[in-house]
Amino acid sequence: MNRKSRFDTLLVHGGQKQDPLMAVNPPIYQTSTFSFRNAQEGADCFAGESDGYIYSRLGNPTVRVLEDAVAALEGGFGGIAVASGMAAVTTVYMSFLGRGGHVVSTDAVYGASRGVLEKHFSRFGVESTFVDTSRLELVEAAIRPETKLLYVETPANPTISITDIAACAEIAHRHGIRLVVDNTFCSPLLQRPLELGADVVLHSITKFINGHADVVGGVIVAKTEADHSLMYGVMTSMGPCMDPHQAFLVTRGLKTLSVRLLRAQENAQKIAEYLEGHPKVAWVRYPGLESHPQHELAARQQKGPGAMISFGLKGGLEAGRILMDSVGLAALAVSLGGVETLIQHPASMTHAKVSAEAKLKAGITDDLVRYSVGIEDLDDLIADLDQALARI
Ligand SMILES: *Cc1c(COP(=O)(O)O)cnc(C)c1O
Repeated sequence: MNRKSRFDTLLVHGGQKQDPLMAVNPPIYQTSTFSFRNAQEGADCFAGESDGYIYSRLGNPTVRVLEDAVAALEGGFGGIAVASGMAAVTTVYMSFLGRGGHVVSTDAVYGASRGVLEKHFSRFGVESTFVDTSRLELVEAAIRPETKLLYVETPANPTISITDIAACAEIAHRHGIRLVVDNTFCSPLLQRPLELGADVVLHSITKFINGHADVVGGVIVAKTEADHSLMYGVMTSMGPCMDPHQAFLVTRGLKTLSVRLLRAQENAQKIAEYLEGHPKVAWVRYPGLESHPQHELAARQQKGPGAMISFGLKGGLEAGRILMDSVGLAALAVSLGGVETLIQHPASMTHAKVSAEAKLKAGITDDLVRYSVGIEDLDDLIADLDQALARI
């Protein structure tokens, strides 16, 4: 497949080589190991002088299709597919952080991306600082001589706050450190961090890239061959490799990324406008609304506002509970980015055990509701919200 093809063509054909039997879709190489025709072929493979496959933890042709496709979509040197989004995050941490190393990260970053640093990487002498990366002066001030990574999630979860990637790349490179961007909320359709100066981009492909809420997975794309080779080596020795069947499903999901996400985004814009005009809704955070504090940055940096909305209810915690119990079409569930609409109330669900102080610091107020917009009929989605809001 020609990497110069345009985005939607890459979505459908990226990473695929012509199959010897002319299969239109990549076969699932459900095998742990690969045999060699003779000793010399084995020796060449192990010496890295031929690109044959050896063992599926070290590489698998079905997984390679997905890795090459996402690398082409993000415009990077190469991709590394892994078992989960968190495997992608921790492979990046393992590759660039070590004893005495320090990372500066977004404060509203995905909970486990923060938790694994504070709870586990700290045991190996890695330090971390979390700041509101949408405020560049705070980013600059948090960088120390021993800082190795600037890690940014944008838009961030669940506050939908947006960080300026190009400005962060300039800061990171001036300090001789790498910029890593978690691009899960946008997918490469709406945002391409490597083009804006980032060194590494990663995804929980559980979300928009797979898009069907039936696979957990992750992918990392490096801009340079050296970073790709370093992270690939960490991945194969730590072992969070992706399974070939998982890769096949994600490659299938990826083909419809544009049609799914553009449709969900169209719904999201209309739903955000509906919510903003509703008397029981206190506030709405959606980059496609002029009321979003970084509406202009989003318009410049992203190709669209995406399909994730956060909003607050005037009735606080109790109103949130009623809304959760009253929606019918939206499923009460964590995760996001699928064809089906999901709703979540962090204060009574995912963050129920988090201290009030910690919640407040991360911008997770008791009234906050997170809504991941799917591709169902817009009028049905609005009718569902409308009847649920009426019960508050
Ligand atoms: C879900 C998510 C992750 C973690 O991915 P898993 O596939 O659940 O391991 C990381 N970052 C963001 C932004 C996410 O939404």
